[in-house]
Amino acid sequence: MNDFSNRRKFLSTLGLGVVGAAASRPFTAMDDSRNASLTKLGSKEIKITAVKTYKVPRAIIIKVETNIGVTGWGESSPNSRPVIEAFIHDRLKKLVMGRDPFDVEPLWDELFWKQHDLGPSGALPYAIAGIDLALWDIKGKVLNQPVYKLLGGKYRDEILAYGGIPLRGGQVPVDEAVERALKLVELGFKVIKLRMQIREYNLDPIPDPTLKYYTAVRKALPGQVEVFVDPNEGYTAARAIQVGKELEQMGMKYFESPCPLENHRDTAEVVNALGIPVLVGEKCYTRWQVRDLILEANPDIIQPDVIKAGGITEMKKIAAIGQAFFKSMALHNTKPTLGTAAALHVVASISNAGPFLEFVELDTYQQILSVFDNQIEFKDGKLQVPQMAGLGLVMNEKKLEKLAG
Ligand SMILES: [Mg+2]
Repeated sequence: MNDFSNRRKFLSTLGLGVVGAAASRPFTAMDDSRNASLTKLGSKEIKITAVKTYKVPRAIIIKVETNIGVTGWGESSPNSRPVIEAFIHDRLKKLVMGRDPFDVEPLWDELFWKQHDLGPSGALPYAIAGIDLALWDIKGKVLNQPVYKLLGGKYRDEILAYGGIPLRGGQVPVDEAVERALKLVELGFKVIKLRMQIREYNLDPIPDPTLKYYTAVRKALPGQVEVFVDPNEGYTAARAIQVGKELEQMGMKYFESPCPLENHRDTAEVVNALGIPVLVGEKCYTRWQVRDLILEANPDIIQPDVIKAGGITEMKKIAAIGQAFFKSMALHNTKPTLGTAAALHVVASISNAGPFLEFVELDTYQQILSVFDNQIEFKDGKLQVPQMAGLGLVMNEKKLEKLAG
């Protein structure tokens, strides 16, 4: 039996087959492939029949329905939920209706390139991410496999998580910062990040707020707990190098987003001057932005966010660009349910996962956590890769609808 007939036989045992042959297409073809082959389940072709959105506190959830009764759930970054919702309903929904949910690559290209003029950064890749996650959830559920298996298999079962403390450019009392750090340690976190949020208020502030927080928090926590600083792009190169070197001497092991993303040359100077790894990239939303970041700023670790950077499909490409330059990837991640599940499937399936994954204090997300019948496991400071089919979270639709109002 040749390879092709073996494959056909394998697919038929899964109840899956591929109808017709996919015509070869030029590199950026955006022709209407609505009539191209659809994946079959038994004798039935699988099609997308509805796209719905749910605005809930601190999150926006995307539902993609199919004609075979399998439903996928995704999440977009919720910075302005109405904008993301409008983007999906006005621009993206019509492009996926009637299409094959297994066609994640051609669909991603269409969703991105047909709306490219509206801005390749921000709302567009956020909105695409929500749909893309739902498509992967569908694929996993139809094939009865966790998503990481469809992404190439797993390198790891778990990853260290870090918790962040927002410090509003230095307006949070130091005692409060210490208290919050102690609470994160009590919750099991073994790595803590001080989010300085300097750029939102200032650039190169005088006096500089960073060292007093680092000193106080470092002193209050057990030695085995890592503490590192994210100035949130609040420094020019000279100040970042000055503060970064002092922190390095005090034992800090990582330094995140020291300079504005709009000036990669400043970041490159910081990377060259410091001996500790510099992490950058939470606002790089596509493979092209990450390529430019690496070529121009050369950070040690890249930090894309799966619900901002176009979803799982784009994250695999970003990971590959990281691999080409031997950069590891420590995902930015601020949502505890579908966003974290998707991040974990990516982290499981890439060779260059970084030292940790961002996670949140669950207390502040009780409402969104309550709409799922199960939760992602967080134990001993580590997040466990979900093992159920799809993204691995079970949606309670009644609770979701009630919460969305
Ligand atoms: Mg950051």
